[in-house]
Amino acid sequence: MAPAQNLISSKHVAVIGAGASGLIAARELHREGHTVVVFEREKQVGGLWIYSPKSESDPLGLDPTRPIVHSSVYESLRTNLPRECMGFRDFPFVPCVDDFSRDSRRYPSHREVLAYLQDFAREFKIEKMVRFETEVVRVEPVDGKWRVRSKNSDDLSEYEIFDAVVVCSGHYTEPYVAHIPGIKSWPGKQIHSHNYRVPGPFKNEVVVVIGNFASGADISRDVAKVAKEVHVASRGSEASTYEKLSVPTNNLWIHSEIETACDDGSIVFKNGKAVRADTVVYCTGYKYKFPFLETNGYMSIDDNRVEPLYKHVFPPALAPGLSFVGLPGMGIQFVMFEIQSKWVAAVLSGRVTLPAPEKMMEDLIASYAMLEALGIPKRYTHKLGKIQSNYLEWVAEECGCQPVEPWRTQQVDRGYGRLGSNPENYRDEWDDDNLIKEAYEDFASKKLISFLPSYFPKSGR
Ligand code: FAD
Repeated sequence: MAPAQNLISSKHVAVIGAGASGLIAARELHREGHTVVVFEREKQVGGLWIYSPKSESDPLGLDPTRPIVHSSVYESLRTNLPRECMGFRDFPFVPCVDDFSRDSRRYPSHREVLAYLQDFAREFKIEKMVRFETEVVRVEPVDGKWRVRSKNSDDLSEYEIFDAVVVCSGHYTEPYVAHIPGIKSWPGKQIHSHNYRVPGPFKNEVVVVIGNFASGADISRDVAKVAKEVHVASRGSEASTYEKLSVPTNNLWIHSEIETACDDGSIVFKNGKAVRADTVVYCTGYKYKFPFLETNGYMSIDDNRVEPLYKHVFPPALAPGLSFVGLPGMGIQFVMFEIQSKWVAAVLSGRVTLPAPEKMMEDLIASYAMLEALGIPKRYTHKLGKIQSNYLEWVAEECGCQPVEPWRTQQVDRGYGRLGSNPENYRDEWDDDNLIKEAYEDFASKKLISFLPSYFPKSGR
């Protein structure tokens, strides 16, 4: 940890967004003694986890003027991480066994995550810091401070000055649509997973789903319940891949990548197979976008790399007044938000100091060079994958908080392993009961639960 040189001071901080990252940022900033205003354009906390049956008018999300629907959650969505490793560290995401309206499964539905975040906001009295239905439309540096312009539901806008702004606006709303050769003249329907809600519209269709990670695996199986055929294009698979799955509905094929789309309606895969498809569903991820941010050209997004951003949190020349919580995707999310928020709060109070801007830039340039040397494309800069635990260890040490419990990362690794090997049932069949037990014992030893449950969630095996 960098030793503090300054006196601890309280700052006036704007947090943009009241999803998981904004809620924990608000709590950590408040705990550190800062005054906090959270701006949230929705009517409630929860961000992405607020399911809406509505989707956007442009199914691919290409029209920049389209009205935005924030959430990308589909009706059948269950978490892709076990609940024990997912929750904030001092507010475990354990089942509410006395409340039958709640979902006690180890991988619960999106509604349970929303309920958990609402519980968290209530427990730590965060809602009183939130201005609901208030959208931040511009953030800019002015004389060493930050000017924030917001607009409420009556369209009334106002400017306010803050010492610092923490951006927690999420990054699963702006679709990334993979390019398919020939797609311009392909006559079928196209939709991005951001706008997928229920399988009904795909009844009796032949559907091609691009992507085979969490959303692709889920959506292809959801659609297969009603579609005639579902063909999944899987980039990670060898070119010759062609496999018919007998489960769950005997109408699902896994292929390699798409070679081309043709004007007769067919989609040709790299394995040489061709299908006449009605719809293509892109489960190809999202793009970072901060339309409210004006940094006079200092920051930019190039090939989905938000730059320059020291350790994915601080833009060197604008730090610590501007920071970002939640940018790296995949792996443990809520705990990462928590540790990043503790770092931001401690830096703003002066308890922890950042290196000089030139040093942060040197570090960044070295990390970009390292990615290039490893052949990792720019667009994966914020995908930490296997190095997430090293990253979290570094940030935790920097701000003097406990390192992440090893059982959490082990649960994530085992869970992703099951997702790859058993996408149908990875949420209900597991073989890491020892890690569940370890998690609950850890919660009990920290007095986060009042008693050890007499049973742990049971595998459906
Ligand atoms: P969000 O939840 O998106 O919240 C951002 C908030 O900012 C929103 O409330 C939005 O309204 C608000 N906002 C945005 N712009 C403005 C503005 N200009 N002014 C005011 N308010 C604004 N993670 C897991 O840990 N487990 C899972 O199982 C899991 N499943 C996922 C499934 C899907 C389909 C997706 C897309 C992601 C999943 N994730 C999962 C990752 C998930 O995104 C994070 O866990 C987390 O919920 C993101 O929180 P966030 O606060 O960063 O963003």
